[in-house]
Amino acid sequence: MKITASCNTSIIQLLHELGLCPEAVIVTIDGELAPETATAKKGQEIRIIHYKHVPPLLSAQEPQGPWKKAKYEKKCAECELPPSVYLPHPKLHLCEKHFSLRFEKQIKHSIRDYNMIESGQKIGLGVSGGKDSFALLHALSRIRNSLPFELIAITIDEGIPGYRDEALERAEKTCKKLGIPQHKYSFKKEYGITISQIAKKGVTNLCSYCGVLRRKLLNKKARELKLDKVAIGHNLDDVAQTAMLNLIRNEPMRFARFNEPLVESSEFVKRIRPLLAIREKEVASYAYLHGYRFNSGCCCPHSSNAMRWGVRHQINFLEDRYPGTKQKMSASFSTLQKIVREKVAKENLEIKECRECGEPSSTDLCMACRMLNDL
Ligand code: SF4
Ligand code: ZN
Repeated sequence: MKITASCNTSIIQLLHELGLCPEAVIVTIDGELAPETATAKKGQEIRIIHYKHVPPLLSAQEPQGPWKKAKYEKKCAECELPPSVYLPHPKLHLCEKHFSLRFEKQIKHSIRDYNMIESGQKIGLGVSGGKDSFALLHALSRIRNSLPFELIAITIDEGIPGYRDEALERAEKTCKKLGIPQHKYSFKKEYGITISQIAKKGVTNLCSYCGVLRRKLLNKKARELKLDKVAIGHNLDDVAQTAMLNLIRNEPMRFARFNEPLVESSEFVKRIRPLLAIREKEVASYAYLHGYRFNSGCCCPHSSNAMRWGVRHQINFLEDRYPGTKQKMSASFSTLQKIVREKVAKENLEIKECRECGEPSSTDLCMACRMLNDL
């Protein structure tokens, strides 16, 4: 396996994201043996030379809690092959094939349980070139063999040079390889400004801008493309983090509309999250096992301020020690959400048309137009 770093990459972080145990691999940077504490600099080449099938390590420090007792099994739980992935919850060692089958089965269950996709529907998928959208694209294209539906990829370029370029290229290649038609849009063309240009104006809540502008563009294009639903690659970790952030920030309205809009409107194309029950690490492992290669440690240059990183770290810490925490959090939030939705629904919300762009909004001026006017 060969990875070319395009920005500083910590080896431990890289192995962590790939779900590999540092003790089972030999890493070289530019051909020299490197300890797991090393960092590869821009342009250097990282090679993972030897890869034994062992349980992935969840923490950069000493394995804690259940990991201390996790032993490498010689056989997959379903067949005679050596396991590639260890799932601490529910303590399963699986080979590549059986891990993938389990992964796709989980998605099928979510699709069925939440009635996400029906046969013959036209489904759009937001493909950013990241591991989540890659995994979802791959899995959905396979699931189409048993549940026929039309799949269209939508890629949005926010305009973040250095970070997005490679991902966008990868998104295009993957769509071509899988024969999925791809539609591409950009902030520059749609709004006349990129995220990098907004950053230069000294905006601090850049991720809020990015999210609001992306959601608006995705919804508008999905409507124009006459899609029945738009699938997004949010995984279990994203769901747990978003719900926790909403609670911390005291945003009950956002919390209430996370899974579905508060008011039904044909102007809003329904969003679905087929990965909502699967942990990020499993999504990364599936993506990796199906040929996805990524420069871990190479994050969006604007992400450092996001409170999400702190929340993510804390939730991962709990999951390391108490496997299953994320699932339980997601279930609790879903129960709470129903209660909050019922309360909010009584407030008679209505959908208006934004006076500037004509897009649907709960106020006279939509959030995207308000944000752009503030610049
Ligand atoms: Fe956009 Fe923030 Fe994500 Fe960067 S980290 S792509 S600015 S939402
Ligand atoms: Zn507007």
